[in-house]
Amino acid sequence: MSKRDQRRQSLIALATTGTIMNRSRVIDALEALSRMDVGTYGTCIDCNERIANARLDARPEALRCIECQHLHDQYLAA
Ligand SMILES: [Zn+2]
Repeated sequence: MSKRDQRRQSLIALATTGTIMNRSRVIDALEALSRMDVGTYGTCIDCNERIANARLDARPEALRCIECQHLHDQYLAA
């Protein structure tokens, strides 16, 4: 199985077992799956840079690179 298929499996698992989990991760997983279909998966939605492989390994549903995620989290917390 390719790395991409492994990530797709992880995303589907996240999306389908999500009721007991953080809802926003479920929404992100669904978004990431649709981005796989259109070919933009792995690209930051804010700055359009590639998201690091290590980050996608840890969180396959990540939609932002680590820098943009920090900025986003600060914005939400403010
Ligand atoms: Zn970014």
